[in-house]
Amino acid sequence: MSSTIFVLLYYKFVDVKDPAFEVMQHKLVCAGIGLKGRILIAEEGINGTVAGTRAQLKQYTDYMDTHPLFKDIVFKRSTAGKMPFHKLIVKRRPEIVTLGKPVDLKKTGKYLSPEEFHTMLETEKDITVVDMRNNYEYEVGRFEGAIQPDTTKFYELPKKVKNLKIDPKNKVITYCTGGIRCEKATALLAEEGFEDVYQLEGGIVKYLEKYPDGHFIGKNFVFDDRMVTNTDTKSGEKVLGKCAHCQQASDRYIDCAKPDCHQLFICCKDCEQKHSGLCSVAVKELAKK
Ligand SMILES: [Zn+2]
Ligand SMILES: [Zn+2]
Repeated sequence: MSSTIFVLLYYKFVDVKDPAFEVMQHKLVCAGIGLKGRILIAEEGINGTVAGTRAQLKQYTDYMDTHPLFKDIVFKRSTAGKMPFHKLIVKRRPEIVTLGKPVDLKKTGKYLSPEEFHTMLETEKDITVVDMRNNYEYEVGRFEGAIQPDTTKFYELPKKVKNLKIDPKNKVITYCTGGIRCEKATALLAEEGFEDVYQLEGGIVKYLEKYPDGHFIGKNFVFDDRMVTNTDTKSGEKVLGKCAHCQQASDRYIDCAKPDCHQLFICCKDCEQKHSGLCSVAVKELAKK
């Protein structure tokens, strides 16, 4: 009998004195429970996505609730038709989300609950909503009216934040998948002189828990085998992406079949067949030969 797989997304900024030890201990605990997923631990905290059955995740959250450093974490939940990870990876990293530039995490944007965020979108006119995710995530789903810095990696943000062309006097509201990128992104905005900055607490995932048919339109990109969530709602039915080859509406991601490319891109079924799963760059290269 197959049972639903649940996915937990979480992070916490906390001083971790001995990341190597926490990595080792976390590996043991998660392997013991039988979880799969990806967990990053750094001196600045923990950032993870784990998947398992309801019972396995209960064991994990019970463990985390008693952990001296990692207790009081907010877990964001979603489901998967099948296990979306192939293995368990627990790694030490310099940062739990890589901005590549130190920022003062005491100066992050003010938190908005999904309810507050939802109300603000509906009632306030003079706000700028900024999607702090990468362009390929924005492409298939986003909040109505949101602008983006057009990054392909989060660490490009310090360079690209000026592209947003927002008056620092504006009221700015940011969001990302689960909230972690906004912590650093809003601290960065504060350093850039922005004075009135808010962030959606718990990100799109928490918002969709509360408002599956709210103001988030299209699919929610996720970094596991599911590729996207929010596929079974009215708002998720809308296809915002375009096939990179034929420009037809599509939100179907594939990895470029060229071994040294592996670029993730949007490709309709027909074009995948026609171009043997290659991205447009690889197709052009092939044509030159
Ligand atoms: Zn196509
Ligand atoms: Zn390619």
